[in-house]
Amino acid sequence: MFEVNFLTELINSSNIDEIEKFLKDNDLIQNKAPLCKKCTKEMKWDIKTTLSEKYYWRCTTCGESKSGRNNRFFSQFDLPLAKILKIIFHWSLQVCQNDKKTLNGVSPIRIIQLNDLINPYLIPIKRLDPLKKKITIKNKC
Ligand SMILES: [Zn+2]
Repeated sequence: MFEVNFLTELINSSNIDEIEKFLKDNDLIQNKAPLCKKCTKEMKWDIKTTLSEKYYWRCTTCGESKSGRNNRFFSQFDLPLAKILKIIFHWSLQVCQNDKKTLNGVSPIRIIQLNDLINPYLIPIKRLDPLKKKITIKNKC
């Protein structure tokens, strides 16, 4: 469960360091070092500035790499993490389609495609409860 004010600030900041730390702390991106398939050694959480995600798992022995999205909810999206979070946040607030388009800068068709991806994961979870002001995101894959 995440506080709405905290999430609003985090998402609006577009601070990828803070966003990835938050997602990793909550295991929404992989937070335990995976083993390298070639060397069977633990991979290291490393920085790669050319990636939109900035961080990834890397084997310090052979250089093999893995996205933090691997086997996580976010692995099915081909958009930057900050943008996906924004779309999910607006979805949870039940923002109408046109406002979502304006807020996120994505096409209406893309929003519908994303809603189709998001709905199976989040519909069983309570939408934003105005009294509790909390949102829950779970990994399901
Ligand atoms: Zn390796």
